[in-house]
Amino acid sequence: MERCPICDGAVVLTREMRDITVGRRTVRVEHEFYRCGGCAEEYLEPEMMDAVLAHAAAAIREEDGTLAPVEIAAIRRDLGYTQAELETILNTGAKTVTRWERGTVSPTGPADTLLRVFGRHPDVAHEIAEAKGLRGSVPVRRHR
Ligand SMILES: [Zn+2]
Repeated sequence: MERCPICDGAVVLTREMRDITVGRRTVRVEHEFYRCGGCAEEYLEPEMMDAVLAHAAAAIREEDGTLAPVEIAAIRRDLGYTQAELETILNTGAKTVTRWERGTVSPTGPADTLLRVFGRHPDVAHEIAEAKGLRGSVPVRRHR
């Protein structure tokens, strides 16, 4: 973006620390956005909003000590499930695991605990999967 769609002024890439509220949490993180030098209107590209959410999720993760996106992805892959399958097992909304692994959202406390249990006791996840009708057979166990 180079010109403001409202007043045609020049926009400037700007970074500021601001509060963002995610769920019930508010954290202060860096926001990157465009600000018009003419009318002061602010613009965020979709990827800028994703970055803000990722920064917020990281800040919350740090405060809470919850699993990092790469750790969640590793647990899921070791279990042998797709993101959608893990969402079914955990009874979360669609795309929740996708967001956790992208880092835009952090798991809540209970979800974080369940993921850790699954990581140490894969059979628990497989039992739930079977009860929910996911696959007829248990995925191949991998040795770590
Ligand atoms: Zn403007």
